[in-house]
Amino acid sequence: MERIADGVGLVDLHHDGRRSVIAAAVLETDSGVAVIDPGPSATIPALRSGLQQAGLDLSDIRVLLATHIHLDHSGACGTLVRADPNIQVFVHQRGAPHMVDPSRLVKSATRLFGDRMDRLWGECLPIPQENLTILEGDEIIRTDGLCLDVAYTPGHASHHVSYFHSKTDMAFVGDTSGGRIRNGTIVLPATPPPDLDLDTTRTSLRRIEAWEPQRLFVTHFGPASGVAEHHAQLEERLAIWAARVRESLRDDETDEVRCHRFGELVGRELRETLDDEEAVAYERGAPPGLSWYGLARYWRKNT
Ligand SMILES: [Zn+2]
Repeated sequence: MERIADGVGLVDLHHDGRRSVIAAAVLETDSGVAVIDPGPSATIPALRSGLQQAGLDLSDIRVLLATHIHLDHSGACGTLVRADPNIQVFVHQRGAPHMVDPSRLVKSATRLFGDRMDRLWGECLPIPQENLTILEGDEIIRTDGLCLDVAYTPGHASHHVSYFHSKTDMAFVGDTSGGRIRNGTIVLPATPPPDLDLDTTRTSLRRIEAWEPQRLFVTHFGPASGVAEHHAQLEERLAIWAARVRESLRDDETDEVRCHRFGELVGRELRETLDDEEAVAYERGAPPGLSWYGLARYWRKNT
């Protein structure tokens, strides 16, 4: 576990054996820890060893806070709750039904990831309703000595929330602010199907900025400074990608070919400034192919 602020740690979940793809945030509480986006079940061993490096264990987890229910962020919640039924899980009201019954979530992920499901994500267990605390946005969570502001920040997903830790001026934004590996120079949009919405994304970025955070914590990957510049770059690239995907829909091609071409183009652009390992971390954390599908679906709904 890397200490990134007073009472805040980062665990690299070494997703699929790679560094800097998925980051879990660990916040100290009076009697243990809270984890924001504990990652998928497949990386629970990495979460445990990260905690152990700080003299902690999975049994110290009191609270789980989901920014959203995508498997790379919150797939482990059900498994962790089954091991310790005292854990409370915070989630937006639109995501909660899919934690109680994850069958639709698993089905749609299986459409995207096929036979890689088990290796990438592991199991996704249901969570009893009584373990869930339902969020709408604009709450202040006070639990076990921890204080976090909540904002509803849809766009990447319709049930996405972000958390602000005023003690360290850090906003935990999941995928709302895109991906940026270890405070690197590139901010990559994360626009997967099925919920992606460009207008609500912009509104959500303004909502996050209203907290005036010193740093963002992005799941892919870690603390990011210069929030205004980060969001400006994200919006600029998002506009370029949105136009590019819209254009690609006029090609006489299949979606598979369009998506593949888009992914290749983004890959080449990343490698103009990054080495291959860094580029792969971006491509794993915020897969451009998935972003093509999200933007394509958005345009098909909105034109
Ligand atoms: Zn993600």
